[in-house]
Amino acid sequence: MSAKPRRSAAAKSTTRTAVRTKKPAAARANPLLSPWRAAFGMPPFGTIRPAHFRPAFTRALADSRREIDRIARAKSRPTFANTIAPLEKSSRALTRVSRVFFSLASADTNAELQAIERRLSPKLAAHWSAVMLDPKLFRRIDDLFQRREALALDPEQARVLERHHTSFVRSGARLDFRQKKRIAVINQRLATLGTHFAQNILADEQAFKLVLDGGQDLAGLPEFVRAAALRTGSDLGLAGKHVVTLARSSIEPFLQFSARRGLREKAFEAWTRRGENAGAHDNRKIAEEIITLRAEQAQLLGYATFAEFRLADAMAKTPAAVRDLLDEVWQAARAAAGKERDLLQKAVEREGQNFRLEAWDWRHYAEKVRKAEFDLDESEIKPYLQLDRVIAAAFDTARRLFGLSFKERPELPRYHPDVRVWEVLDRQRSHVGVFLGDYFARPSKRSGAWMSGLRSQQRLAGDIRPIVANVMSFTRGADTDPALLSFDDARTLFHEFGHALHGLLSDVTYPSIAGTAVATDFVELPSQLYEHWLLTPEVLKRFAVHFRTGKRMPDALLQRLEAARKFNQGFATVEYVASALADLELHSLTSAAGLDITQFEREILVRLGMPREIVMRHRLPHFSHVFSSGGYAAGYYSYMWSEVMDADAFGAFEAAGNVFDRKTARRLKEFIYAAGNRRDPAEAYVAFRGRLPTSGAMLKKRGLAA
Ligand SMILES: [Zn+2]
Repeated sequence: MSAKPRRSAAAKSTTRTAVRTKKPAAARANPLLSPWRAAFGMPPFGTIRPAHFRPAFTRALADSRREIDRIARAKSRPTFANTIAPLEKSSRALTRVSRVFFSLASADTNAELQAIERRLSPKLAAHWSAVMLDPKLFRRIDDLFQRREALALDPEQARVLERHHTSFVRSGARLDFRQKKRIAVINQRLATLGTHFAQNILADEQAFKLVLDGGQDLAGLPEFVRAAALRTGSDLGLAGKHVVTLARSSIEPFLQFSARRGLREKAFEAWTRRGENAGAHDNRKIAEEIITLRAEQAQLLGYATFAEFRLADAMAKTPAAVRDLLDEVWQAARAAAGKERDLLQKAVEREGQNFRLEAWDWRHYAEKVRKAEFDLDESEIKPYLQLDRVIAAAFDTARRLFGLSFKERPELPRYHPDVRVWEVLDRQRSHVGVFLGDYFARPSKRSGAWMSGLRSQQRLAGDIRPIVANVMSFTRGADTDPALLSFDDARTLFHEFGHALHGLLSDVTYPSIAGTAVATDFVELPSQLYEHWLLTPEVLKRFAVHFRTGKRMPDALLQRLEAARKFNQGFATVEYVASALADLELHSLTSAAGLDITQFEREILVRLGMPREIVMRHRLPHFSHVFSSGGYAAGYYSYMWSEVMDADAFGAFEAAGNVFDRKTARRLKEFIYAAGNRRDPAEAYVAFRGRLPTSGAMLKKRGLAA
């Protein structure tokens, strides 16, 4: 649906470049290898084609290796200036090409890019292993680290040195030759497995389409769900048909509203079985091998389990600290979910039905109970949440908190016609960075929502400004109508925009500690904290405007929305914490050979006493947070860890009596949003708040404590 306009644009600009430049043919044809001359150094998306990546990576990898060799083999005594600074400056071409490639591989992929990704991932892993395990390079870094007190470093330099030293040690720099070889093999294999894991989920998602056949199949669906399904149909080449896909923003409303129980079951079944279907896209064996290799990796590095290894360098420090938090929440959440289930079962019976509530019924009856108990109906809220207005609300919040403004720049390059590009300016109208918003689901995009950095802020190689993207999977509106968001979608938009601000406001010298390059259990603080502003009347009242009538959201509806906030939190907490605990337990195995993850999942859920009507938010066979890149392996708890902080942090604004309090916002920017990884996360939090957080505010927010 999207390939055509891009291909023609690419062809045009390639011709232009060819006329202008006088470089050798290979370089001329490859925009990835030429300087990027678009405004703000934007990648030349219009001219990049899949075939450009292979030669670009080959050259960038060679450049990177050469730059690092030069540092490692230097004869002079190590100094910060001849070792750490050039290390920070090295591999720029590789970083540049990698970021463009992986942005496309997740947001707008195709068979060609997928094939490149499968070949490339192990190659990149091998490259970085060779760097991190280079004995000469580590000797220089270790020498500096041992003498760090005597080096007269400024605090940021000291932090950068410490971070490099830690990450070399954690990568295996202190192991003997044979162990290092094994670590490199493991890294390479993990990269391959992670790529397959993600591509298998996408394949299962692309394979499923629920085509609603005529009036009966549409029973219960409000106008906005029908319109979105119709739009999805035409996007998928089924014009005139209503189609539901496995994108969260397509299937969730369907599960909420469809009166066809059999269809709900069918869609839910496909959704929750992603990655678990026998055949070419089965993730179960892949997961077993990933867990086995991670356990071995951790043990080589001197830890009993991967969870211990992983958490030692997180804010949580130990699996026990994580378990304490999750257990505290689990009991309360399960009790709350039990009460919710009883309410839902009663709603089933009130309809004169006698079936027992199942997982595919939960969202449907939750919606009905929400309507009955709180007089709140998703289809009543949605017309007020127009995508453009919610984007404007996120921007305006950034203006009021941090003085930022956003100017749309439609002439800047983008990788897909749906992508929108804004220049970000500060109070003095100086350039801050570039923000890309890519909001709609499409088959070439993996599901979910994320922020990605196309370029990090830094000052080491000149005043380099950040370029960050937010990628979402919203459904479009009917042809002439604006896209309308659910309240959850709007929250997701604010969440990812919080990550984007963490990248955009970054104010550091060294690129390795810029923006979101912080511990995983800290990185969700700027994003989740930002969600709080969406819920304030100051924001909702101004930006929630009915798309047909142009009227603002009435106070009464706002109040009902507020009153219903804690409803179904038992469910939301249970589905999340079950995934977080399963992740932790999985990575607490000392050996995983022969592991059957489906069986393992079942056993854990039994032990936890998982309510049978609730399914984990991410079942293990498609738990991409944990398996695809390893980013959240033994780290899915991070959202709740950060939530303890965000609930507590927002309390600082409430205590000031103004959710846009200037002084508090200034501290928030200085110590959190602009600070990158300049200091230890706990220290950063204390610098902002004056003390460490406690879980009280989080439990209260979820309605799990008085
Ligand atoms: Zn996040």
